[in-house]
Parts: sequence; C-alpha cells; structure tokens
Amino acid sequence: MTALLLATTSAGKLREIREVLAGLAIEVRALADYPSIVEPEETGRTFEENARAKALYYAAATLCLVVADDSGLEIDALDRAPGVYSARFGADEAPTYPEKFALIDRMLEQRHAPESAARFACALALARPGEILFEARGTIEGHITSPPRGTNGFGYDPIFFYPPFGCTLAEVPTDRKSSVSHRGQAFRQLRTFLQQWQNDGQ
Ligand code: IMP
Repeated sequence: MTALLLATTSAGKLREIREVLAGLAIEVRALADYPSIVEPEETGRTFEENARAKALYYAAATLCLVVADDSGLEIDALDRAPGVYSARFGADEAPTYPEKFALIDRMLEQRHAPESAARFACALALARPGEILFEARGTIEGHITSPPRGTNGFGYDPIFFYPPFGCTLAEVPTDRKSSVSHRGQAFRQLRTFLQQWQNDGQ
C-alpha cells in the first residue's frame, strides 16, 4: 500500500484531511510518526510557495510521498491580512485565538468595516523526493462576524460567517465544513489525482 505523509502538526487539519482521503488504498501517516524531523521555516510570500517548499522538504527528509498544504484567512478590509501569516498573526500581543479575534475586531473598527468580506484559501502540493507531482488550490468566500460563534473546527472558524450555511464554520460538523471548505476542495482534487495515479500503476 502506498504511504502518504500529511505534513501538518495541526490536529484540526489532520482530522479534516483524513476524512477527505478516507477509503483510498493509502496508508496515511502523520508528522508525529517522524518525531526527529525539524519543522522548516515558512518563508514564502504565497500559500503555493510555502506548500511546495514544505512538501519537497519532507519528501527529502523521509523519502516518502508527502502532501503539504498552506492555508490562511484573507480579510479584504485589512488588505488581505493575515494571509500567509495567519498562524503567527498578532503573536506577541494576541497569542490566543480569542485575543486574535479581538485584535481583528479593533482593526476592522478602525477601517469602518466590521463585517469585511473574507476568504479562506488553501494551496496543496504533493511531492516525492525532488519532484512536485501535483498541486491544487481551494477558496471559500464569507465575511467576518463578531462575537465569535461555535465550538467546532479550529483557528478562525468562529469568526468566519459562511452565508450559504447562515452561520460560522465553527457551528457545523467537520464533514459539513469539509464539503465546502478551501481545504476540502483542494484535497478532493488530490483524492481524484491519487485514485487516477494508482490506477495508472504508480
Ligand atoms: P498553516 O498551518 O501554515 O497553513 O497555517 C494556517 C493557519 O491559517 C491556521 O493556523 C489557522 O490560523 C488559519 N486557518 C487555515 N485554515 C483554517 C480553517 O479551515 N479554519 C480556521 N482557520 C484556518
């Protein structure tokens, strides 16, 4: 069976990705299976650059087939911040997500756009040592809401209002979120690629 390493340490992401890839003839591994590998720094200016760099780094380190993704929240009224800096956003003054939500509220107040349009974006790259085999991207459009609502999901989900659901992404179960999310879209494309790739005898 082909082994595929999911290059993420986020439990929330792992849960979502495992659900989308369930049922494939693939042994899904996590970074926890490779505790000695040091995490690389994310220095790219785009989600795509970071995803490619991470996938190639872990493929070289493990000699395994690796999928890496980079994702984040883009808020239009903040010139698409925090973007690739979503995980690190407000690190010193706002280390927890509730503090990040409050910081975003204050920044949006200053711009008179409390419910700014926003999107989550996800770029993924599949690599084997020295070679990118496949890339995909997904986005989901919504707007910022305050106060935060919901306890499912992770990260910025409680302040991301998704109009077709009439609620935030933290108010729906993981499988419902994945059916529309940026990561769900990108990983469903990966699922289709992997099925084809295996059928072609790779
Ligand atoms: P990454 O692990 O470098 O891709 O950083 C992604 C960061 O973007 C996460 O730590 C979250 O802060 C945010 N993010 C990405 N996807 C989601 C999502 O589906 N829901 C909420 N926050 C997300």
